[in-house]
Amino acid sequence: MEMEMEMEMEMEIVRDLETKMEELREYYRSGKTKEASWRKSQLKGVLTFLKEREEEIFKALKQDIGKHHVEAYRDEIGILIKSVHFALKHLKKWMSIRKAELPWVAYPTTAEVVPEPLGLVLIISSWNLPFGLSLEPLIGALAAGNTVVLKPSELSPTCSSLLANALPNYLDNNAVKVIQGGAAVGEQLLEQKWDKILFTGSARVGRIVMTAAAKHLTPVNLELGGKCPAILDSFSSSWDREHAMKRILSGKYGTCAGQACIGIDYVLVEKKLASSLVESLKMLVKKMYGENPKESNSIARIINKQHFLRLKSLLDDPEVKASVVYGGSLDEDSLFIEPTILLDPPLDAAIMTDEVFGPLLPIITLKKIEDSIEFVNSKPKALALYVFTKNEKLKKRIISETSSGSVTFNDAIVQYAADTLPFGGVGESGFGKYHGKFSFDMFSHEKAVLRRNFLIDFWFRFPPWNDYKLQLFESFYLFDYLAIVLLVLGLKKPRRCP
Ligand code: NAD
Repeated sequence: MEMEMEMEMEMEIVRDLETKMEELREYYRSGKTKEASWRKSQLKGVLTFLKEREEEIFKALKQDIGKHHVEAYRDEIGILIKSVHFALKHLKKWMSIRKAELPWVAYPTTAEVVPEPLGLVLIISSWNLPFGLSLEPLIGALAAGNTVVLKPSELSPTCSSLLANALPNYLDNNAVKVIQGGAAVGEQLLEQKWDKILFTGSARVGRIVMTAAAKHLTPVNLELGGKCPAILDSFSSSWDREHAMKRILSGKYGTCAGQACIGIDYVLVEKKLASSLVESLKMLVKKMYGENPKESNSIARIINKQHFLRLKSLLDDPEVKASVVYGGSLDEDSLFIEPTILLDPPLDAAIMTDEVFGPLLPIITLKKIEDSIEFVNSKPKALALYVFTKNEKLKKRIISETSSGSVTFNDAIVQYAADTLPFGGVGESGFGKYHGKFSFDMFSHEKAVLRRNFLIDFWFRFPPWNDYKLQLFESFYLFDYLAIVLLVLGLKKPRRCP
């Protein structure tokens, strides 16, 4: 009954979708969203929302995923505030027209690149960073002067409802609409024609998005996931080793209990180091989450029962269970899974073929650390690759011989906070990039503008054609000025063509 009511509500939202979209398009056509002052006011609106509604955001993240407010601030509110400030600081430059250089053969001509908004864009986001993954692209879309429909995930309902009910108080409602709902609403949205779709989620739904977008030739950005490896080399200094391990644990359990697209999925390490690594990791996990991590409020909970059961089933495989060297306890009522370490689970088990997206950390041993390159290359391209090493030769090989959305040396997740680095995947982990200026560019079209006057015209660009004109074109394109002069003066004969 409850489900039927929910579906009816979702359909109600979609029923007036076309009217809403027409209003958004009409507003875009009014030109208002192209004004720099309007864009700034919207960015400031996002900022005020984050500041004034901070408490509610903390509560919503706690309610939906059990996220601690420090983690919530570090990964969502704080990063977003930084991103808005960055956009406000650089907006004028991003919007400015860039002069383009032309070859002298085009003289007298001037040219420029004019960034223009795309129009009406759709943002579909995921639940693990419900504010981050909704508002980071929204900042780019508004900075670029678009109107926007945002659909957050139904799996983080408190956060989505806060976005739908509170965010409009801070933004121009003629330009931004937040639509709540699940797959059915998502599919209805995909039926419509958009000027761009930014999708964050699974590769499975990414394929649905791309197929739907193809019908309208809508450009898409797919921010997907996959398995992000961490390669751990040996360290001679205990300081370096301990910090590497802390960062690995934080890159696994510290971001939404491993439910993060750029979270570490598994660790590759030399066999001879494995047992001491496991012992040190156990000690550090206890330091971070205590003897009884279930009591800890520093680790998030699993988003829902379905994901809990998915993760449980990964451990149910007897060979995988036998590889657990730490943790492994689960509590369905509180959707808690203990930070768990596994040593060499079978490579063909689901835990090693599917994205883990939870607090289970497989450690895979190799003969030599250099073998990690082949291991990584035998898998689909990852969204992020983490390498903990001081070996410069290995670093160089990683950069040149592997492909991934990003490579981070000696840390994890931090690249997400950088406005100056493109964030996005490659291959199976998606395509397109955003954050900082990349977000502005993603939601803009760079229009080529070329201006000519009528002062000079080259007679040879018009028919009738002859070999002399062919020779002139060739000399122009090859910048062979001497040949041009000789040809014009009649001192050089054009080459004969068949
Ligand atoms: P999902 O693909 O199930 O859902 C993502 C969004 O798509 C949600 O808003 C959902 O309502 C919507 N959706 C679901 N079915 C749809 C359909 N048929 N048509 C249209 N929309 C539909 O993914 P998820 O469970 O939210 O997220 C988990 C996945 O997302 C993981 O693979 C993870 O790695 C990836 N992810 C990637 C990033 C990134 O920035 N690259 C960030 C977070 C999560």
